[in-house]
Amino acid sequence: MRIDVVTIFPGYLAPLDEALVGRARRAGLLDVRVHDLRRWASGVHKAVDDAPYGGGPGMLMTAPVWGAALDEVTASGDDDAVPRLLVPTPAGAPLTQRRAAGWASEPWLVLACGRYEGIDARVLDDARRRMPVEEVSLGDYVLAGGEVAALVVVEAVSRLVPGVLGNPASAELDSFAEGTAGLLEAPAYTRPERWRDLDVPEVLRGGNHAVVDRWRRDRSLERTAAVRPDLLDALVARHGAAAFD
Ligand code: SAM
Repeated sequence: MRIDVVTIFPGYLAPLDEALVGRARRAGLLDVRVHDLRRWASGVHKAVDDAPYGGGPGMLMTAPVWGAALDEVTASGDDDAVPRLLVPTPAGAPLTQRRAAGWASEPWLVLACGRYEGIDARVLDDARRRMPVEEVSLGDYVLAGGEVAALVVVEAVSRLVPGVLGNPASAELDSFAEGTAGLLEAPAYTRPERWRDLDVPEVLRGGNHAVVDRWRRDRSLERTAAVRPDLLDALVARHGAAAFD
């Protein structure tokens, strides 16, 4: 899978050389390319922003600079390849495991990192004429730029790309995944069996897989009901009462 990230702070994406994503890049499973947006800016100051029409505080990233960058990056694929453009913004639909899983089966993603008050809206209108475009939010808060969101998207997507995780079953049993019915994962334990007078639950040491599965399912339901009742509502909406069979 190929992933391009366009940003005015390429150094911010350095963690993509580390850990799981770094290993996947070196193994040839991911082709990640980070581009400095200022390469497409002109003038002595290489400005990428200007004041917003209609007034208001802050600056906006300009359409000509982003347009030139996206034209070049999105035309650099093989043959007629067209990427999916992902644009981090608090005004986007929330990032979910389901969306990340969908993107993990795409051959090519391009991430456009905004700064200041964001990007001139015409950049996305123009891109939509040539490629699928999705706006994505990390949550209901405002970051200073899209780079952290790009890191999050790349990591969430990468671990779902076949071959990237050593054991693909671990992703299937994660919180929000099919194996946990879209709910939160149950609490987990490893050795030692007793630590600071706290014991690993007896049921996990018994070796009865059916009982362990039931226990994990109950803890998953409890935990989800306590902090994410919306996930239980979604499960019931999908499967009705059969969700709890
Ligand atoms: N004026 C924008 C608004 O109110 O929607 C906020 C701009 S924010 C200061 C600058 C950039 O940070 C955005 O263009 C986006 O790339 C990124 N950003 C901020 N919050 C984000 C979030 N919750 N999810 C994804 N990206 C975010």
